[in-house]
Amino acid sequence: MNDIILLKLGEIVLKGLNRRSFEQKLQGNVRRRLAPIGKFNVYCLQSTIYVEGEDGADMDAAFEALKKVFGVVKLSRAAACEKDKDAIVKRAKEYLGAELSVAKSFKVESKRSDKSFPMTSIELSQYVGGELKEAFPRVKVDVHEPELTVHIEVRDLAAYVHSSPVQGAGGMPVGSNGTAVTLLSGGIDSPVSSYMIARRGVHLIPVHFFSFPYTSQQAKDKVVELARILSDYCGRMTMEVVPFTHIQEEIRDKCPEEYFTLIMRRFMMRIACRIANDNGAKAIVTGENLGQVASQTMEAMASTQAVMDLPILQPLIGMDKEEIVGFARKIGTFDTSVLPYEDCCTVFTPRHPRTRPKIADVEKAESAMDIDGLVEEALAGIERIQIDHESV
Ligand code: ATP
Ligand code: MG
Repeated sequence: MNDIILLKLGEIVLKGLNRRSFEQKLQGNVRRRLAPIGKFNVYCLQSTIYVEGEDGADMDAAFEALKKVFGVVKLSRAAACEKDKDAIVKRAKEYLGAELSVAKSFKVESKRSDKSFPMTSIELSQYVGGELKEAFPRVKVDVHEPELTVHIEVRDLAAYVHSSPVQGAGGMPVGSNGTAVTLLSGGIDSPVSSYMIARRGVHLIPVHFFSFPYTSQQAKDKVVELARILSDYCGRMTMEVVPFTHIQEEIRDKCPEEYFTLIMRRFMMRIACRIANDNGAKAIVTGENLGQVASQTMEAMASTQAVMDLPILQPLIGMDKEEIVGFARKIGTFDTSVLPYEDCCTVFTPRHPRTRPKIADVEKAESAMDIDGLVEEALAGIERIQIDHESV
């Protein structure tokens, strides 16, 4: 019998009638995530997804990859054996012997979803606990605060033995909650906001505004790398790189300086909404954070949102920078985000930006430009880049 990875599903278990379709979505995501690693048999029983390796597939790599799949709250690596009390004891000794010989205390916790098994869960725990105590006399039994919990699950096809599960990425399976466009700069914030919305089960289309030669090829490569790191969680994505140079030059030439950033952001939102509508995406995600910069006051955000016909999702809006940085480190984007390449937001920045703009004044400030023509030109020049997670 093969060792196995057990994935415990999170909230999706609670979703009543949707549960089956969520489970299927998650199984599909798990299969896709494991495909580059090797051959695996993936199936779902009683709200647990089972992953069995075939032909010597790399279980360590699979386990690491599955820690980043949304919809999984806990993961365990487990050893399978026959549904027989002594076979279970033997397997527990083999599989958890190293942990049992160093732990100070342990307990056994059994679950029995196969109700035809001849012992109750309590009887099985007592039996296996007694046998393990005899085999490892130095470890104490402590049912209240054990250092090690030996889990036994008697399920339909086999019994499984495993130690404490590790935490999964949580959230809901990507694709179970629609599609959104996420505005991805090279900064610290937007990879985190993208992650948070993807974790709610949303498939993302990253959009990056690129102002070559004011921003460099390296700045673009950095954003591609950030999207790639995100794809370990979000799955495959198509990033849209929008040429933004002409728009920025037009703003510089035709608009009052204090409105540069606001007008630029209104263009970003118009273009993002067009991309979203063309791709069936239902919202725009940004890494905006209240009061962080001049364009993130309530008045400034009102003036950028005035051009949008889709909801804007700003998951970082009320967080402190420290908290955002903590997230960025945890998900692995921080070190790339802090590479020192410029972003289009830092090209032509006004010396004295408007922080409490009136929408009518912003509209007047941009009125000398051919807005529709510039939006169409930018859309026509989009470059699409396929983003995929690393093979392992
Ligand atoms: P970040 O760290 O994500 O760059 P920020 O705090 O620097 O955020 P801004 O530069 O004002 O804030 O941008 C606010 C949001 O607008 C970003 O979080 C991102 O969602 C979006 N954005 C900014 N610049 C770009 C860009 N060049 N391409 C795509 N989206 C962008
Ligand atoms: Mg930025």
